[in-house]
Amino acid sequence: MAAGEVSESFDLSELAMTPGAEIDEAIPAVRTWIEQSVPIEWRTAAELGGASEIRKIRKFTDYEAWYPVFAKSGLAVATWPVAYGGLDLAPKVARAVEAELAPYNLGRLNPLGLNLAAPALFAYGTEEQRLRFLPPMVRNEEVWCQLFSEPGAGSDLASLATRADRDGDDWLLTGQKVWSTWAHLSDFGVLLARTDPDQAKRQGITYFLVDLRQPGVEVRALRHITGEIDFNETFLDAVRVPDFNRVGEVGGGWKVANATLSGERQMVSGSGSGGVDRIGGSGAESLIALAKGNDTAGYENGWTNPLVRQAIMKVLSEERIRGWTNQRVRAGLKAGRAPGPESSIGKVHQGSLNQRIQLLATELLGSSALAWDASEVAGREGAEGYAAGLPREVKGMLRSRANTIEGGTTEVNKNILGERVLGLPREPDPWSGAPWRDVPRS
Ligand SMILES: Cc1cc2nc3c(=O)[nH]c(=O)nc-3n(C[C@H](O)[C@H](O)[C@H](O)COP(=O)(O)OP(=O)(O)OC[C@H]3O[C@@H](n4cnc5c(N)ncnc54)[C@H](O)[C@@H]3O)c2cc1C
Repeated sequence: MAAGEVSESFDLSELAMTPGAEIDEAIPAVRTWIEQSVPIEWRTAAELGGASEIRKIRKFTDYEAWYPVFAKSGLAVATWPVAYGGLDLAPKVARAVEAELAPYNLGRLNPLGLNLAAPALFAYGTEEQRLRFLPPMVRNEEVWCQLFSEPGAGSDLASLATRADRDGDDWLLTGQKVWSTWAHLSDFGVLLARTDPDQAKRQGITYFLVDLRQPGVEVRALRHITGEIDFNETFLDAVRVPDFNRVGEVGGGWKVANATLSGERQMVSGSGSGGVDRIGGSGAESLIALAKGNDTAGYENGWTNPLVRQAIMKVLSEERIRGWTNQRVRAGLKAGRAPGPESSIGKVHQGSLNQRIQLLATELLGSSALAWDASEVAGREGAEGYAAGLPREVKGMLRSRANTIEGGTTEVNKNILGERVLGLPREPDPWSGAPWRDVPRS
């Protein structure tokens, strides 16, 4: 079978197991599924060298074309109920299944839906909303983005000014969002809007699910430092949203938003699944191959140089420790604990670690990280000028600059840790409790 082709011969419903199913029932079923559904080239690459070999031969478009097979199996969200697109697997069974799947690097598409919108729906949505929105989200048929940040409301998100006015059974949304990742590719966005400006800033906010393919929504692209288009400005002019798409109480959106923000921190820190690839470049393991390659080129940046080995081992050990910490967070989630502020630990550490890993990769690259022949490196869709031929390591390094900003800045996450984990006094707020309309804003 060629990459992208799909076997239809295996009855995927065989994988549907009840909670408490034993590992020895699940594992043979998953192995059969892998044999019959994962393209042979990917399996061969996985046997040769795991995820890094697969990355060399698998194009994103191949993976996108094949993804419906993964989604249909329920394995993409194995612990979710069958009705929402999962397999209802018990956490320990799901962990064993994940270990079987790991060598094939089968990431989940639609990460902003699965990691940001879904936690809010699970925690505060109605059963009708879950049945309407979760299955197409799992199948990547409806792509999601997050519309929280505004020009005047980033770290201080609760000061947001986008307005939602009631109009019969609907709401009319007007305002501007910014840094909306993938809004240009998305069908839906989770959005916070102000429904009562006379309430204190956190109390007058409501959480909506907004269909972006409708009149009144305008998405304008912003270009990253890497040259790619990834995020956008999103303008809303009297956009109609049915009350069915409101999650939680009117005025109760701040609580709902926290389920999304916590999911986002886990995704960006790597403790949720699906986020690590998004935050740029390769992991510390690939630095070893880079340094070994330099040996043959006779570089001082080679593996034989003990200073190079020391630098790589430092980030590699930190990466392993981060992995174990994330496993603990995941185990807590799978045991039914709500996502909490501890995900800020992973977010703060991952932001800095990934920047150091990516910087080390460009250092190992030597002068090729300073200048390159664009014609020798395959151009990427959407990238222009210098960025068209950007070496992978340079792109990773540039992209990683955002890691300490996206998903909440490092400074703000340290505040969360100080206040909610260490129990330190809250940041003083002279406007606490004042109506939003009276609070000065930038
Ligand atoms: C790559 C990328 C993707 C993004 N994707 C999305 C998305 O999909 N959807 C979305 O809604 N948003 C998105 N964002 C926006 C992101 O959430 C905000 O950039 C972030 O919350 C910071 O807000 P700001 O940019 O307005 O900075 P500001 O809040 O203006 O902060 C400026 C500086 O002040 C510091 N600061 C602010 N308040 C405090 C404080 N109380 N204590 C100490 N220091 C403080 C900050 O740490 C920062 O250094 C994305 C951002 C990036 C970089």
